[in-house]
Amino acid sequence: MRLSQVLFVTLREDPAEAEIMSHKLLLRACYIRRISSGIYSYLPLMWRVLQKTSQIVREEMNFVGAQECLLPQLQISDLWKESGRWETYTKAEGIMFSLVDRQKKELALGPTHEEIITSIVRDMITSYKQMPLNLYQIQTKFRDEIRPRFGLMRSREFMMKDAYSFDENIENLQKNYSAVSQAYCKIFERCGLSFHVVEADSGAIGGLASQEFMVLTDVGEDEILYTKDGSYAANAEKATSIPNPEDISPFDSYEERETLNCNTLKKLSELLNCSLTNIVKNLLYKATYDNQKSILILVSIRGDQDVNEVKLSNELNYLAFKYEASTLLTLKISDQESLLKDRLPLGYIGPDLKDSYINSKENIESSFLRIADKTVINLKNFVTGSNKLDHHIVGGNWGQSHRLPELILDIRKAKEGDKVSNDNYEKLMSKKGIEVGHVFQLGTKYSEKMKATFTDKNGEEKPITMGCYGIGISRLVQSAVEQNYDKNGIIWPLAIAPYHAIIVVPNMNEKKQIEIAEKIYHDLNNIGIETILDDRTERIGVKFKDAELIGIPYQIVTGRTLKFGKVEVVERKTKNSQEVIIEELPRLFHELLKNIKLSSQFI
Ligand code: ATP
Ligand code: MG
Repeated sequence: MRLSQVLFVTLREDPAEAEIMSHKLLLRACYIRRISSGIYSYLPLMWRVLQKTSQIVREEMNFVGAQECLLPQLQISDLWKESGRWETYTKAEGIMFSLVDRQKKELALGPTHEEIITSIVRDMITSYKQMPLNLYQIQTKFRDEIRPRFGLMRSREFMMKDAYSFDENIENLQKNYSAVSQAYCKIFERCGLSFHVVEADSGAIGGLASQEFMVLTDVGEDEILYTKDGSYAANAEKATSIPNPEDISPFDSYEERETLNCNTLKKLSELLNCSLTNIVKNLLYKATYDNQKSILILVSIRGDQDVNEVKLSNELNYLAFKYEASTLLTLKISDQESLLKDRLPLGYIGPDLKDSYINSKENIESSFLRIADKTVINLKNFVTGSNKLDHHIVGGNWGQSHRLPELILDIRKAKEGDKVSNDNYEKLMSKKGIEVGHVFQLGTKYSEKMKATFTDKNGEEKPITMGCYGIGISRLVQSAVEQNYDKNGIIWPLAIAPYHAIIVVPNMNEKKQIEIAEKIYHDLNNIGIETILDDRTERIGVKFKDAELIGIPYQIVTGRTLKFGKVEVVERKTKNSQEVIIEELPRLFHELLKNIKLSSQFI
């Protein structure tokens, strides 16, 4: 590529639309253009990075025996209705773009492909002999994200590699799963990312394993809780831990106390001179299921703890059958709810809030679902709301002043500083991360619903055991920038850089400089060293600035050293410069590039 002949417009100023460095740099350096919220064009430099990254993904997926295919992006509603996800995806979560065609058939733009792939294998797989199987594709996905942001990190149209595995049973699924997990580690290493593998929430699908591959960065939207010794790492949505022990209650008898203007726990603990761990905090949630039935949930949890809504949603999903529903659609905090007859005394609710508060109607469960988090069950002489404005109870006890809810669950958020478990004294630490990959043991969720069965060795018909595995390719590429830049611009890891080298010609009026630059350009490209030639008639300062901004790993400068038959080779990352005899350049670059192929030789 000759810079003088291509669309290449770099920006000196940070674009107002971008908040994080990788987003700013990709816009400034002519890699991407925003078309609308969460919708980006990949410009030629970016397309090369995406293609290279995709190629690394392909090589490692092929190595573990997966086969590439390409599935339709237009998906029909019938399949999503079979799996039971049409309503959730188009309405409740609303993440799926849907449309109606001229035959009045409902269609959607694929956010993921479990339904399509399951419909294919149910027609084609009949016997255990056809498995194990792993199919993958690299394709644009569409998701109507509520808050698209940070450029390619959370966009509405993005590139994903998604893979789906099919096995006879869980043991074989686990083999497929660990092979793909290993492939993922190689992919991220080869792309030059520093990443962590963490335990992830696997939803209410049945407690099968799920792991996420996280790139650590302060701008990440996920919280990772981990121990320094590396023995534990989990997404905060999933993490479990042991909370600090509670303090001894300063109260020894049951009493109702006036607690004026104490609608926050902090004010209450100050007024009553007790610890937050002595308080039973009560929160009201509203859950709506796919049969439109709503229930109100009263959660009791220790005053210093928070509810993990992902854990709570999973539990409510398990209970769906109890309300004749199949899945939970929404869960939200619900303290002033039209489903209640009276206004609640906010900040003063107790675990014994009467069911008669509920404005019973069709589709609303007439009693509260009362849940106690494990942190409250051992509390003695606790403080809690009295269900009366400006009053609290002190010295409460389960089995005496209050009935302990029947449902006792772990729905608390694990926090930084907590102990991991009773036999691991390491304290949890917290960091922000971005999920670049996700591996998931699905089990038989889709195959059962969509009747994808096979005949096993004993002639028995069984549902296929599935796994699914995603990598956000466009997000991965931006994460690589987020981890590799300096004040002058991007520093691409060599394996995914759009080009290996850029030839900077300081003075376009000097014939010798141009001649030599042209020769190097041809010679290097001919032997596979991907090289750009900056042959623009720009000032040298501009050329150097642009070369740094776009982050090409090596600059070859045809300047003053030419008279000694040499060029200057500058490494973008370290700024180390060496004078190299022109004829030696191919050998030098072979040497430098050998390292990026190393990982594929390891496998
Ligand atoms: P997130 O929790 O970030 O919304 P997800 O759990 O919905 O992601 P998956 O369905 O597991 O994502 O998708 C697989 C991969 O696709 C993710 O690991 C991530 O790298 C990428 N991805 C998901 N949503 C987006 C998006 N809106 N923009 C870019 N990449 C995305
Ligand atoms: Mg995920």
